[in-house]
Amino acid sequence: MRAMTRRAPETRLRQQLVQFGHLCYERRLLVGLDGNLSVRLTDALVLATRAGVHKGLMTADDLVVVDLAGHRVRGQGQPTSELAMHLACYRERPDVEAVVHAHPPTAVAFTIAGLTLARCVLPEVVLTLGTVPTLPYSTTGTADLAEQVAAAARRHDALLLDRHGAVCLGTSLEDAFCKLETLEHLAMIMKAARDLGGVQDLPADESERLRRMGLLRYGGPPAAVALAHAPMADLPEACGACSGCGRPSADGLAAPAGFSVARLTRA
Ligand SMILES: [Zn+2]
Repeated sequence: MRAMTRRAPETRLRQQLVQFGHLCYERRLLVGLDGNLSVRLTDALVLATRAGVHKGLMTADDLVVVDLAGHRVRGQGQPTSELAMHLACYRERPDVEAVVHAHPPTAVAFTIAGLTLARCVLPEVVLTLGTVPTLPYSTTGTADLAEQVAAAARRHDALLLDRHGAVCLGTSLEDAFCKLETLEHLAMIMKAARDLGGVQDLPADESERLRRMGLLRYGGPPAAVALAHAPMADLPEACGACSGCGRPSADGLAAPAGFSVARLTRA
């Protein structure tokens, strides 16, 4: 289980929220007015970016304090139009302290191409994130989308929204931001591997070992940690569209002819 996070004072959390908004823009994980970030101030209050603010230019004055029902408590302007999605995550996951939503281009391109990122490919990603599911298309800013995200957040800290973006949950803004960077980096590496001839999954037994190690060492969603000792840890259901770790996928990212786990373990 994760250790209880000691919250920083509001002034520090405001600085961090601005800093990670700037980083999202500088790292090209969003453009213009895209995306939104939030962090818990107290058990009942959340600090979030306001609607219509450029994340690369924002300041501490562009943040709004809301309660968990979405009522504005302090701050100028309206909270982000995707606030419902953030609040649904906080209600669903008391262990989560920060939520970052951005539009990482390579990862979003995978969803547009109908390709899943929910595969066990990079050991350190399996260790820390498990697999990254893509949620079916839902209109931005709606209660439907918020419900879908909250349901998936029970088992995942990093999610992709079809044709839209990513939602990353963390024990701090830095933790959520790192997951966002990892997700886009995974997509870039998988794209490069596709260009070079194909993406090959880790063998199933290694995926299982890595995921179990990761859940026990670093934690994760409590519902995923509870499955750490189950066969395949929390992986099979998490893989979703994928046909299973260590086996060729049926979604267009299929391994080339002649693929086998034995061949991979030698590679
Ligand atoms: Zn968005």
